[in-house]
Amino acid sequence: MLKENLNIVQQKISDAKGRSGRENETVTLVAVSKTEPLRYIEELLSYGVRDFGENKAQEFRDKYNLLNSGINWHFIGHLQKNKIKYVVGKAALIHSIDSTDIAEAVNKKAADLGVSQSILLEVNTSGEESKFGIRNEKDLFEIASFCKNASNLNLLGLMTMAPFTKDEAPIRKSFSALREMKEKLNAQGFGLTELSMGMTNDYEIAVEEGATILRVGTAIFGERDYTKPWNQK
Ligand SMILES: *Cc1c(COP(=O)(O)O)cnc(C)c1O
Repeated sequence: MLKENLNIVQQKISDAKGRSGRENETVTLVAVSKTEPLRYIEELLSYGVRDFGENKAQEFRDKYNLLNSGINWHFIGHLQKNKIKYVVGKAALIHSIDSTDIAEAVNKKAADLGVSQSILLEVNTSGEESKFGIRNEKDLFEIASFCKNASNLNLLGLMTMAPFTKDEAPIRKSFSALREMKEKLNAQGFGLTELSMGMTNDYEIAVEEGATILRVGTAIFGERDYTKPWNQK
């Protein structure tokens, strides 16, 4: 089932790239493996998937400790200060930095470890109260400036989650807003290259709007089962 699902997702990505004249650009598919057992991750590895995403710090740490060779682990969830130690230096990319406070703590931990931590800033482009992320351009500029000057952070771009709806217009609007924010920051010398946007509900639209990283779970693994922990499945 994983193989067929993966093929379908990859085909749809490739079609969306074609439609938007992006055939020669790299779009990285992160398989969001939260709640999923290791054997599914191993199966996807055998099909050439190298990027996996987790949103809980302990689950991230435990899976990383069991399986890390040849994998880029992405941390995509909300990061609390006391759990930074589980993620920094292990994540190929942290997608969810949303305050100077957390950026400062990540920078400090990265400095302690003697590593440069690649990060994205999470922006709330939907205005939904329930979502995390930076809420206005002034804050975004301030946090981005802090990260750019931080010795052990490597700020690569922006991340967002679109509203969950069947209606295409607000989704497209979220994604184009993120792209415009990246362009504005780049006009001020930030040199950002990455846009992490697009999930199962909307990854084709995200490709059309310029995503360079997609975070797809359900379309690859099927519906998530929250009744048992990942290591008891
Ligand atoms: C769970 C999650 C995803 C993947 O969601 P699907 O709808 O299953 O594709 C993507 N991004 C974040 C931040 C998530 O928490």
